[in-house]
Amino acid sequence: MLIIASRNGVIGIAEAMRALKQGGSAMDAVEIGIRAVEADPTDQTVGYNGYPNILGELELDASVMDGRTLNSGAVALMRGFPYAISVARQVMERKLPHVLLAGAGAERFAREIGAEAWDEMLTEEIRAVWRKRLADSTATGEIPPLKENSPLLEWVKLATDPERVAGTVNFIAIDGRGDIASGVSTSGWAWKYPGRIGDSPIIGAGNYADNRYGACACTGMGEMAINASTARSVVLYLKTGMALADAAREAMRDLRDLGGDYIGGMNLVALDKDGGHIGMSSEAGRTYIYQQADMAEPAEVEREMVEIPARWG
Ligand code: ASP
Repeated sequence: MLIIASRNGVIGIAEAMRALKQGGSAMDAVEIGIRAVEADPTDQTVGYNGYPNILGELELDASVMDGRTLNSGAVALMRGFPYAISVARQVMERKLPHVLLAGAGAERFAREIGAEAWDEMLTEEIRAVWRKRLADSTATGEIPPLKENSPLLEWVKLATDPERVAGTVNFIAIDGRGDIASGVSTSGWAWKYPGRIGDSPIIGAGNYADNRYGACACTGMGEMAINASTARSVVLYLKTGMALADAAREAMRDLRDLGGDYIGGMNLVALDKDGGHIGMSSEAGRTYIYQQADMAEPAEVEREMVEIPARWG
């Protein structure tokens, strides 16, 4: 039994491991671990109290993948429901003929299945950070009224705010039966254009699991992971017989070839079916966490760095 997670998963990993030890599935562990991060108001990149989009609205993205069945479920742009990971799991488990629901449809589905809804998804403190970021970027310090048809194209450059781009939680687990599950949840880039969907709910981009080979989940600039199919690439490289570290490194190197003006930080965590695990980052000094059944608490380990020269707008 093993769980790996991005470092911000530390708040949920012990409870997730308890569930595994009590016979819970890898999918249970992933959901439990991620829900703890989604409910945490101090994590401003996932669930409740994440950084909102450019209009000050919180839109959540999440996905799960079951490595035994190769089935998945995902939601994107969902407002008003803090536990996006649980709604994503239900998209998979209710046997819809769909894997990804977005926006009003995701919210409708969440209501229909009785998912927990919160009236207020942001604290006043986060609203103040958003207002200040907007005000600081105008010549007058006044935020113009952002109405339905207000032009946002210039404003959205704020979404590359380097201090606030990084976030998202990844969990991958192997349970006592050897089944693998993976999950990702995020509020996406701070100040993103309304309707922007990142890699977290896109199976193959930010999340992929296959019992026969392993699993991978990403954080960082989601557009890059979408363009390069990063999570699926790691698993596909494993399928070709590459060792885990080589597979993960190759998928990171693929990101260097991407076009576009916004190339920057990417991170992944990955494991293979035998319980080997690794973290990679384009930044030095970043870490991830893991816990095995015989460990009283998680260990934090450094990610291997793979340089990706940054290009910004
Ligand atoms: N990957 C997430 C997204 O692009 C954000 C992040 O991990 O920082 O939405």
